Amino acid sequence: MGSAGLITYLLSPSPSITLVTFVTYSLFGLSYEFLHFLSHTRCSFKPESFLHRVKANHMRHHRVDSER
Ligand SMILES: [Zn+2]
Repeated sequence: MGSAGLITYLLSPSPSITLVTFVTYSLFGLSYEFLHFLSHTRCSFKPESFLHRVKANHMRHHRVDSER
């Protein structure tokens, strides 16, 4: 459990809310990491699909500031 998990544990009124919050946070984090990974692969996606737009926008983000 990271610092976000510890803060959730300390602030939530019940263990079930802590668990739901932790699982939701983790799923969003894993989704983000998976989409980021796909953006950096050589996979090509159907034009106009969600993944195609995510990859195009992410690659544009890297080109705007190549130092980051
Ligand atoms: Zn990236």
